Amino acid sequence: MIYNEDFETLPRPALEALQLKRLQSTLARVYANVPFYKESLDKAGITPDDVKSLEDIQKLPFTYKQDMRDSYPYGLFAVPMEDIVRIHASSGTTGKPTVVGYTRKDIDVWSELMARSFVAAGVHKGDIIHNAYGYGLFTGGLGAHYGAERLGASVIPMSGGNTKKQIMIMQDFGSTVLTCTPSYSLFMAEAAKEEGIEFKHLDLRVGIFGAEPWSESMRTEIEAKLNLCAIDIYGLSEIMGPGVAIECREAKKGLHIWEDHFIPEIINPDTGDLLPPGEQGELVITTITKEGIPLIRYRTRDITRINYETCACGRTHARIDRMSGRSDDMLIIRGVNVFPSQIESILMGIEGVEPHYLLIVDRKDNLDTLEVQVEVDERLFSDEIKHLQALSHTIEKEIKDILGVTCKARLVEPRTIARSEGKAKRVVDHRTKG
Ligand SMILES: [Zn+2]
Repeated sequence: MIYNEDFETLPRPALEALQLKRLQSTLARVYANVPFYKESLDKAGITPDDVKSLEDIQKLPFTYKQDMRDSYPYGLFAVPMEDIVRIHASSGTTGKPTVVGYTRKDIDVWSELMARSFVAAGVHKGDIIHNAYGYGLFTGGLGAHYGAERLGASVIPMSGGNTKKQIMIMQDFGSTVLTCTPSYSLFMAEAAKEEGIEFKHLDLRVGIFGAEPWSESMRTEIEAKLNLCAIDIYGLSEIMGPGVAIECREAKKGLHIWEDHFIPEIINPDTGDLLPPGEQGELVITTITKEGIPLIRYRTRDITRINYETCACGRTHARIDRMSGRSDDMLIIRGVNVFPSQIESILMGIEGVEPHYLLIVDRKDNLDTLEVQVEVDERLFSDEIKHLQALSHTIEKEIKDILGVTCKARLVEPRTIARSEGKAKRVVDHRTKG
């Protein structure tokens, strides 16, 4: 099933012609209405008229998260405040949040793209969507909500937290679709088990999980524990919110990015040069229909690859790989680049290890140290000490062999690592910056 057949299956030449037209119109609007873009284009010595082909996008300067911070709160808005009908903000780890504004048309486009995403995941009218993404300044809750209503499904606006109640509602209301972070879904599975409720007795069929990077092995774990088809969704508030890209149920191999509204590029994060399809680099997105806060060549910091090959589902829009992580989350341990999701992937492949872990990075005698704390199976924990030692040794060896990083594995009892109802905290870095 395809929600918007006309646009989702547009042949490549027509799709690219549409992209160019929309890019040119976006550039004209931001050049006229946003002083930041007028300045940055003038400084680069180009005007919107110089963009005559899609390749010309490479002449345009990048926009960074810092530019959004510097123009806090409304400096990058391209329309008067009276045309803004919604404001969201993403929490920064330090200082002020990043603010985004939506016009009525922006909300309309977002709702459609979320509806397309639901359908790509195998959701349809008649489904009961249990939406456990947080409602509030975070875009997850309302983004999924509007998409569900647009589709005509029944949406339960649960928001995050109160896990016992979530399980009761899912059971009593007959929820067929669950939307939340992948780590929270596992936490729910665990909490349900403690209540003596089996997920396989619930009506859940599809889970749409996003807002944090997760591995293929985590998917296997979730599908087994929750007895549903787990689909990866991608989005970021700066660009729109959830629904920028999603896996299709047919292929489950890469996330279709809605190219009639966004132009994706993959670049070398160090040089800024465009990389060919298939090569891993940083995802850069240009919005080409947004009115409230259009962004030109926004540096997402997310690391992925792009694939323009045709897909089994019939959609013509390019696919991006599931995120290996955010370049900001990448750890450099004794000169080796490591993403927490890579360690997760190794841990999930080891028998007896539970999907709850914490990476503790420190520096001792000028050397980086990595401790991998991971929960083990209850039965195993009460087992003989030599079995636990053998398991620690396996974890250390696998991580060393696959990633080239020396670590210390510390096995902990089930349910000792703090759980999160939103994005999971996977890393504690004690090293002082600089
Ligand atoms: Zn597909």
